Amino acid sequence: MIDLHLHLDGSLSEEDVLYLAKLSDVTLPKNWQEFMHCPKDATSLVDYLRCFDLPLSIMQVKGSLAYAVKSLIHRLHSLGLIYAEIRFAPQLHLKGGMSQEEVVLDALDGLKDSPIPAKLILCAMRGEGNEKENLETLRLTKKYLGKGVCAFDLAGAESLYHTDKFNSLFKEARKLDVPFTIHAGESEGCASIDDALSFGALRIGHGVRAKENELTMLRLKENKIFLEICPTSNLDTKAFKTYEDLPIRTFLLHGIHFFINSDNMSVSNTNVNLEYRHVKEAFKLHRNEIYFLLCNAIEASFTSEKEKWSLKKKLDEQFTNWCLTNNL
Ligand SMILES: [Zn+2]
Repeated sequence: MIDLHLHLDGSLSEEDVLYLAKLSDVTLPKNWQEFMHCPKDATSLVDYLRCFDLPLSIMQVKGSLAYAVKSLIHRLHSLGLIYAEIRFAPQLHLKGGMSQEEVVLDALDGLKDSPIPAKLILCAMRGEGNEKENLETLRLTKKYLGKGVCAFDLAGAESLYHTDKFNSLFKEARKLDVPFTIHAGESEGCASIDDALSFGALRIGHGVRAKENELTMLRLKENKIFLEICPTSNLDTKAFKTYEDLPIRTFLLHGIHFFINSDNMSVSNTNVNLEYRHVKEAFKLHRNEIYFLLCNAIEASFTSEKEKWSLKKKLDEQFTNWCLTNNL
């Protein structure tokens, strides 16, 4: 019903790929459908991230991001979502000659006439030698904040480029008063989450490894920092073997604030409704607990108090029906 951790490039439909390949004049490889989904033999987040090569190769020209954003929002609407925050890294879309700003403007075009309220989160990338690009992404987040962009993020290979390397980037984000979330505690442990917390992250992407440390959990609880949990994605990246291994009950018992997301609809072959069902079945969640998680998502959303109030009203109106439709 609400998805706040959703990557654009990991969520293209097969129809999108065919359209975007044509638009981009890219010849798709044989068995291209296989390249869109996480391979069963993936062993880590690094393997998982390879699934983004194909979608990225066809989102390098003007019009491609607008099309992808629009198409994704229409699919979310038909799934019954009432709000979404869609993220992508502008610096990964420059191969066709667009600047980061042109990429952002193209994606913003896709929000026009949206059937549901939706916003964009701009991702900086973990890596080396891309400090200038990350700062440019931050500058653009500031420039378009409140104009379709709602926050900043850090994505990419956490185990290769540790969170503590990005101290100065987030110092600058704080200076600019830009709200941010950080992917942390997915393939790396609590030190990564602690770094993200000390930078001032308002939400943590995944954060599931917080369960390894009581102090980290206490910090999350006391500062009311929300975890964006993406169950199937964690199985695909081999952070956990089964849904039952996720620390859902531990987090509920510790009073940690979290909610459920899809991460990548095509790479993980899922959507947020299905993710709630997986968690419900694995932990025998009561409907009240699911309702509580959705309220968390509304509270954590990077939007105005007025919009949160309106989302809460929609949630109350549609919750029972949504549960029935999705076997929850
Ligand atoms: Zn993610």
